[in-house]
Amino acid sequence: MIESLLRERRALLSGHFLLSSGLHSGQYVQCARLFENSRDGERIGAALARLAPPAAQVVVSPALGGILPGYETARALGTPFLFTERSGGEMELRREFRVEPGQKALIVEDVLTTGRSTREVAETVSLRGAVPIGVLSVIDRGGGKDTGLPARSLLSLPLETFAPENCPLCARGLPLEKPGSRAMSAPPRPREKETEC
Ligand code: ZN
Repeated sequence: MIESLLRERRALLSGHFLLSSGLHSGQYVQCARLFENSRDGERIGAALARLAPPAAQVVVSPALGGILPGYETARALGTPFLFTERSGGEMELRREFRVEPGQKALIVEDVLTTGRSTREVAETVSLRGAVPIGVLSVIDRGGGKDTGLPARSLLSLPLETFAPENCPLCARGLPLEKPGSRAMSAPPRPREKETEC
């Protein structure tokens, strides 16, 4: 399902991208496109929920990318949903979101690249007494094994990354893009009709 959706939605981009890890890559998955059609989002959430450990009591996702898959998974599971945000570089639970001591937390991500955000979410909820029990992602680009938690995904799509100093795309002089910054230009405004009187 995910592979055909990636194609249909043109969500797998080719180019020269600066990832949030600081590494460069020739590919980028624009996961939000998979949720553009809300029925697709619902199906993805249901598919993720089928991979969830039965003990999960709350779903927690990192903003911004994790919010759509996390919310849809929580909806399919019937659990509460919270999200963490970065504030001055630190991952935090804001907006009066609370986890209960001992509550079993399932982390849901859109794309797992290095596993760093998952580890930070796990630490944030652990500090408040909850117990991270696993991570689900729509697409695992290789970071699942580095989260320190049981990880499952709908699609494994290993990512080829380059350190900036060894990047063949830099060597070819391709302009570096920050993913998500591609904006559609607005269509030209229709000229106002002459008023007939
Ligand atoms: Zn590069």
